[in-house]
Amino acid sequence: MRQSRFSYSAICNLKSTIMNGVLMDFSLSAQHQVFRRTVAEFVEKEVVPRVPEMEARAEWPTDLFRRMGELGYFGLRYPEKYGGAGGDAILFAIFLEELARGYMSLAAAAMMQCLMGTNFIYRFGTEEQRERLLVPAIRGEKIGTIAMTEPGAGSDLGAITTRAVRDGDEYVIEGGKTWITSATRADFFTVAAKTSPDPKAGFKGIDMFLVEKGTPGLTVGNQIHKVGVVASETSELTFRQVRVPKENLFGGREGFGFAALREILNEIRVMTGALGLGLARAARDESLRYAHERTAFGRKIGDFQAIQHKLAEMETRIELSRLVVYYGAWLIDQNQPCNKEAAIAKYYATEAGVAGADEATRIFGAYGMAMEMTPQRLFRDGRFLLYGGGTSEVLKNIIAKEMGV
Ligand SMILES: Cc1cc2nc3c(=O)[nH]c(=O)nc-3n(C[C@H](O)[C@H](O)[C@H](O)COP(=O)(O)OP(=O)(O)OC[C@H]3O[C@@H](n4cnc5c(N)ncnc54)[C@H](O)[C@@H]3O)c2cc1C
Repeated sequence: MRQSRFSYSAICNLKSTIMNGVLMDFSLSAQHQVFRRTVAEFVEKEVVPRVPEMEARAEWPTDLFRRMGELGYFGLRYPEKYGGAGGDAILFAIFLEELARGYMSLAAAAMMQCLMGTNFIYRFGTEEQRERLLVPAIRGEKIGTIAMTEPGAGSDLGAITTRAVRDGDEYVIEGGKTWITSATRADFFTVAAKTSPDPKAGFKGIDMFLVEKGTPGLTVGNQIHKVGVVASETSELTFRQVRVPKENLFGGREGFGFAALREILNEIRVMTGALGLGLARAARDESLRYAHERTAFGRKIGDFQAIQHKLAEMETRIELSRLVVYYGAWLIDQNQPCNKEAAIAKYYATEAGVAGADEATRIFGAYGMAMEMTPQRLFRDGRFLLYGGGTSEVLKNIIAKEMGV
């Protein structure tokens, strides 16, 4: 995969308009466009027809997950050396947007696999860990996830109480996690634990550890039954005197974990925004189709201005989401600081997805509540976007902080 035309233009196209130091070129490269068509075709042919069955079963879609590994989708951001595609953040956003448009449960599990579940091994793991875990994860043969949230600590990650204490050449981990995506299927976990005994250390006392399935003392607990993303399994985890070798401390030194986490936080936010954009498009497409089909008072409901305005608002939010998500991805590709832009991308595009799904249920009238129709699923699945990577409230705090207030 090549660099996006955004960056190519930055070097070559001196005639482009310069505004605030950013070259104005909103087009995607030919490679990105071809990739979007390829993913969209996969989603239409292999995902969408199976959504009713996956929703009814409400369990991990093993074969589809393996198929995505075969197609190379889990390695989009990783180097060819490990079986990846060496793609940029724009490519990754395209993938997640298209997948979320088709089925959010699968997109949620895939994003975990491509990003949070494997990223620490890639960036801070040993070569042996990469060969043994990352390479098969890229092929879809092993599953990785991240375990940070605890019953008493979600947004306030600095309040986690899971501890990791050095004992000779090992660390001993004790504690519990909750809301862990793919935990039921995971072969390895990236686990946040406090190494600092100082209760005031907060975020700075956190480190990240690799814990593999089958390690004595690690238990995958009950599944959490959720209102949405039902085929993306979510569970509790318990660590009772779990011993891991000291090499499983990512980064190799204590006090490094939070800085490491911050490095991927912006990408997590932009990519969750891409999921929101996909959801918003799905809601718009369903609504537009129904507006043409459904009649009331002898007219198509799409003839009513009230419905037209709802559709226009959905379309506007989609266009704005597209701008903030792909701008965020472009900034990541340029290695530019983007705390504010990533927070805006996640906040705006996920709220756009949720608002679009809500409007779709209204446009469908009573059928918006019918389980055999799509809007209710979009409405339920959208809730998932509002929490991980920062709630809208927390993201607004970050945006305001970046503004200097
Ligand atoms: C489907 C699903 C999958 C998940 N998967 C994972 C996973 O794989 N791994 C993982 O570690 N976690 C996972 N999570 C957990 C997710 O990261 C947390 O839900 C998120 O961090 C928010 O924490 P919380 O739910 O405890 O909410 P809380 O932090 O308790 O927040 C409750 C409310 O208070 C508000 N609030 C909190 N702090 C502030 C503040 N400073 N200012 C203003 N308002 C504030 C919030 O916005 C929210 O409205 C998952 C969650 C869901 C729903």
